[in-house]
Amino acid sequence: MLMTKAQLQSRLAQIQQQIACARQRHEATQSVILLAVSKRQPVEAIAALAEAGQCAFGESYLQEATEKQQALAGLALEWHFIGPIQSNKTRAIAEQFSWVHSVDRLKIAERLSEQRPADLPPLNLCLQVNISGEATKSGCDPAAVAELVAAIGALPRLRLRGLMAIPAPALEFEQQRQPFAALRQLQQSLVGPFDTLSMGMSDDLEAAIAEGSTLVRVGTALFGAR
Ligand SMILES: *Cc1c(COP(=O)(O)O)cnc(C)c1O
Repeated sequence: MLMTKAQLQSRLAQIQQQIACARQRHEATQSVILLAVSKRQPVEAIAALAEAGQCAFGESYLQEATEKQQALAGLALEWHFIGPIQSNKTRAIAEQFSWVHSVDRLKIAERLSEQRPADLPPLNLCLQVNISGEATKSGCDPAAVAELVAAIGALPRLRLRGLMAIPAPALEFEQQRQPFAALRQLQQSLVGPFDTLSMGMSDDLEAAIAEGSTLVRVGTALFGAR
């Protein structure tokens, strides 16, 4: 379904409202950033949301993201990379993005740090954790997080902001909360000045906010089905 500009802008207002209500209902003290996940959505839809004040956009595929960045170069947007990262893509990611949420190995972090251009600020990074322990999911083992965080924290051109996870889907609110609580506790156990918990998507953003999310990554609920 292709949405009109007015429909997109009203969905944006609805999601912002949903975030505000969730914060109130759960007495959340943290602020919550909305990352608009625009993968497989047209540039016109991104432009419509940008016009309504949305500035952070998340993309999962480098080739597609590059085309959109070129088409929208006139807008001051903040691009976040949230997809799986192959080694041969790190240079372009280090050059073209402000944030990367999907780092789960030291080698990738080292390459991003080496390849981050000197004239740009440090690359903001979240370490992706396989919090539900799913065999097929990306993300590092929770048991490996402390060591990885220490190693990544020492890299000069990166700024490690916190942890990210995509839990196994669950329907019940209380079930949805559990992996988010586990990620929050894991982050609290770490040493470092972390200010970001990247968790929550279209179907579980309220549970994520209840457990301390500072950044929700919303695709379908904003743009419609992909
Ligand atoms: C696609 C994607 C999202 C958005 O998912 P929706 O369910 O459409 O909101 C969030 N995070 C990541 C990492 C994604 O790949």
